[in-house]
Amino acid sequence: PGMDEQLRHRREWESKLRLAVQENQFQLYYQPLMTTASKTIHSFEALLRWQLPEGELVSPQQFIPLAEETGLIVPIGDWVLQEACLEASTWPGDVGVAVNVSAIQFRHGRLPESVAKALSLSGLDPKRLEVEITESVLINDHNDALDQLHCLKELGVRIALDDFGTGYSSLSYLRRFPFDKLKMDKSFVQNLDQADSMAIVSTIANLGKCMGITTTAEGIETEEQLSCVEGEGFSQIQGYLYGRPMPADQVVLQHFGATRVRERDCTRQ
Ligand code: C2E
Ligand code: MG
Ligand code: MG
Repeated sequence: PGMDEQLRHRREWESKLRLAVQENQFQLYYQPLMTTASKTIHSFEALLRWQLPEGELVSPQQFIPLAEETGLIVPIGDWVLQEACLEASTWPGDVGVAVNVSAIQFRHGRLPESVAKALSLSGLDPKRLEVEITESVLINDHNDALDQLHCLKELGVRIALDDFGTGYSSLSYLRRFPFDKLKMDKSFVQNLDQADSMAIVSTIANLGKCMGITTTAEGIETEEQLSCVEGEGFSQIQGYLYGRPMPADQVVLQHFGATRVRERDCTRQ
């Protein structure tokens, strides 16, 4: 009976998610990434939210695994890329946007085409787009994923390795692909009082420095955490201390001091 219930629950959420794709019940929130030295905004990370018809916001941690299992992450991921690039193309100067992509999007084999389409529809300079991947992209079938990563690089897009230091992340990935950025997982910053976390934070900062790769410390919530990662030499910081993820309109109001210029409902392709 327990398994039966689980299956019923999964089917119910799967059909809700299919409907969400058809009806585009998704939104992107944006969280600032700051340049440590100047304390200016370098870019914003686009973070997916699913708004149920009842109004409740579902976190990506709850629905991305199901979207991946069902393959729905492919159309959802295409929408995320297009929406994020369109939004960023309205931002001033060279403020960039970072988009998370799933290993399943690589397995599908047409991520470079999706990225190229999002760039051409929005007119966004490829230098302003950063694609964030996790090591799961490289674990299986890594040759094809590597080819796609090289294609993305050729488009002029930057590639970041997210959640670095957790999961199965292996240092050998750093020799297989010239990543532009390492994003240290927030769990290390959250346990800075433990000597081993401090040693890892310091080592990741040095690794980035020695390899000439930008380093970002995620999950900065306090001044103490900020001064620690600043002292270690992280190039960029991201966390609630500087800004929580917020809707696009709020980004424009809070950070660019302007009202919206974009029609919101002509973005779906
Ligand atoms: P991530 O890419 O590592 O994103 C960082 C997560 O940490 C975000 O959670 C963000 O809201 C949260 N965060 C940022 N600063 C702080 C802080 O100071 N303290 C704490 N406690 N948390 C902080 P969120 O938005 O729930 O996203 C969770 C994960 O879902 C992301 O982790 C990413 O792996 C995935 N995700 C989000 N959007 C997408 C998407 O469009 N596509 C794919 N494939 N995955 C996505
Ligand atoms: Mg990320
Ligand atoms: Mg992360």
